[in-house]
Amino acid sequence: MADQAGTSSSHLENVLEEDDDYDLIYGAESGWVEARTQCDHLASLSSDLAHIPTPNTPCNRCQHPSENWLCLCCKDVLCSRFVNKHMLEHHKQTTHCIALSYSDLSVWCFACDSYLDAQVIRQLRPVHETAYILKFGEAPPHRSVECPQLEDKQAKDMPSGS
Ligand SMILES: [Zn+2]
Ligand SMILES: [Zn+2]
Ligand SMILES: [Zn+2]
Repeated sequence: MADQAGTSSSHLENVLEEDDDYDLIYGAESGWVEARTQCDHLASLSSDLAHIPTPNTPCNRCQHPSENWLCLCCKDVLCSRFVNKHMLEHHKQTTHCIALSYSDLSVWCFACDSYLDAQVIRQLRPVHETAYILKFGEAPPHRSVECPQLEDKQAKDMPSGS
């Protein structure tokens, strides 16, 4: 008769894997943390990021001269957690959470506790580009995020004229 009822198939269990394991494996352990390509806190970005302070602006509080952070919510320039932690302090006092590093132009979200990929996140791309130009005097090399249709070869077989 039907004696296959007792066969335990572990097939389904293998498919289900915890997403948390991913972080444990690829997170801090390896020393390499992937920048996030999305962030829920972009609504707090300043509405005018076309004009930002120059990269050599000193910290607003302690006048530390270099490698400061730019708060992308209010455009305050503050020193890093390795100096006098004024950016971190600013975040705690104001809950402004997104900051751009004038040292390597990376963008950090305090709320996500993670770097953000400024070239992928559309709202961050312009300010990243502006900061890059202020720092290096030229536009950043373009990464092929959006592919222009260069391979779209127009056929020449259209009849020209009459
Ligand atoms: Zn965030
Ligand atoms: Zn400072
Ligand atoms: Zn701020």
